[in-house]
Amino acid sequence: MSELDELYQSVILDHNRAPRNFRRLEGATNHAEGRNPLCGDQFDVWLRLEGDIIAEAAFLGQGCAISKASASMMTQAVKGKTIAEARALFAEFHNVITGAGGPGTLPSKLEVFRGVSAFPIRVKCASLSWHAMKQALEER
Ligand code: ZN
Repeated sequence: MSELDELYQSVILDHNRAPRNFRRLEGATNHAEGRNPLCGDQFDVWLRLEGDIIAEAAFLGQGCAISKASASMMTQAVKGKTIAEARALFAEFHNVITGAGGPGTLPSKLEVFRGVSAFPIRVKCASLSWHAMKQALEER
């Protein structure tokens, strides 16, 4: 498999084809949008906080397979996490996709994005929804 083939692993294609939590979130407490003009990715990210916990996360928008799959997996990854845990997860994810992360620091599902570090232009795609999630958390 070439590096590019590896990047588009089936899990990414699956989340692109059938994104999870792909809807406007009713009762959302926090919202932010992310845009990546280089690629044309644009997503809205909604969170519903219960105290310090991210009870629900959802997103809507359009973008390339990497950005959409990443947003889909981001909403799954942060659900049920505390704000501090979600921020820490973002930091780990960002380290991994920029090639700064050590081995095995991420939940295994998110490891599929490790290959993105070989394609700098794709780093923005993979991190877009994560930046929006982090920005949404700044609202409070
Ligand atoms: Zn993109």
